[in-house]
Amino acid sequence: MKSYNICVIKGDGIGPEIADEAIKVLDSVSAKFNFELNYEYYLMGGAAIDVFGEPLPDETLNGARKSDAVLFGAIGGEKWDNLPRHLRPESGLLKLRKSLNAYANLRPAMIYDELINASTLKAEVIKGVDILVVRELTGGLYFGQPREKLEDRAYNTMTYTVSEIERIAKIAFEAAMKRRKKVCMVDKANVLETSQLWREVTAKVAQNYPDVTLEYMYVDNAAMQLVRYPTGFDVILTENLFGDILSDEASMVCGSIGLLPSASMGGDVGIYEPIHGSAPDIAGQGIANPIAMILSAAMMLRYALGENEAANCIENAIKAVLKDGYRTKDIAKFDAVEICTTSEIGSIISDYIKKQ
Ligand code: NAD
Repeated sequence: MKSYNICVIKGDGIGPEIADEAIKVLDSVSAKFNFELNYEYYLMGGAAIDVFGEPLPDETLNGARKSDAVLFGAIGGEKWDNLPRHLRPESGLLKLRKSLNAYANLRPAMIYDELINASTLKAEVIKGVDILVVRELTGGLYFGQPREKLEDRAYNTMTYTVSEIERIAKIAFEAAMKRRKKVCMVDKANVLETSQLWREVTAKVAQNYPDVTLEYMYVDNAAMQLVRYPTGFDVILTENLFGDILSDEASMVCGSIGLLPSASMGGDVGIYEPIHGSAPDIAGQGIANPIAMILSAAMMLRYALGENEAANCIENAIKAVLKDGYRTKDIAKFDAVEICTTSEIGSIISDYIKKQ
């Protein structure tokens, strides 16, 4: 029997609640498709600060490095917000991404027909939305040096090299070749030199993909077009900060931030995590939507383990559960047959997998 080692980092806030549901679903699907998942659990973020005094202990990083994949919940919370920057939960996550060279963050945003009424946008605007945000994850403003907060001013540095842009652009074009063959590069080239470099490098990469249409869009316009005409987008290629913001916006086009998964790849080990944070405002209430986390587990099966059938099975079970009217609170509108807790919807998805 095939066997895989999964580094599980549940994190803070709703992280443990949604990670438990992803594991429940993974257990069903691995039993069905006859492979074994060995979970090793590690602390990170606030949970690690409380125990080890740092957000990414060596033990966790080493555990991630020797695994086949990292399944990640979410980190952060008010309790740790006033620590110095290098000790904050978010610094641990940035270090994990950098250390694993997870520079390519794929964030699919598609609307389930069953949830067409869960969005705050009109059904005719969002029907058929199927976007892939390809976000550069280990460069730009989040990592650039120098950076400092002084008494009377603060500064950050946005920096990108040609090779950093080239490798993420290739990922976007490769993805577009398997989709509708359109790449929209989002930047701020009318103001930023880094964006001008992105345009030059992306145009060169595009020459190797003559079947793909490349267009450029300023990020302010892209933010507006995403709610005006979201079906106009196929692959969005963009840098770290813009991708962070635009993918949250895309999530609401699809109904809830609790629906969008992600895969962060590039090095030997990838990180699979929902796009949302630790949602402290709803933690411990049993109302978090675990679907983004469960879909991230499906991406892990597909991209890290090559278990495509199992990944498809999870995605089909989620569609079937939504079709039958089961909803968590965030996506419950008039069409919900039953409003479920985090744990209930995880169990229902898991049962559908067993039945399929
Ligand atoms: P957030 O994504 O945690 O929450 C934003 C809003 O979306 C909240 O109202 C929350 O209740 C809701 N929400 C998020 N996930 C949901 C889910 N699965 N189901 C239902 N509703 C959901 O963003 P925030 O409030 O800005 O940040 C909270 C903490 O998370 C901060 O400490 C932040 O730094 C951290 N954060 C972590 C990550 C990560 O771990 N990758 C990403 C973003 C933010």
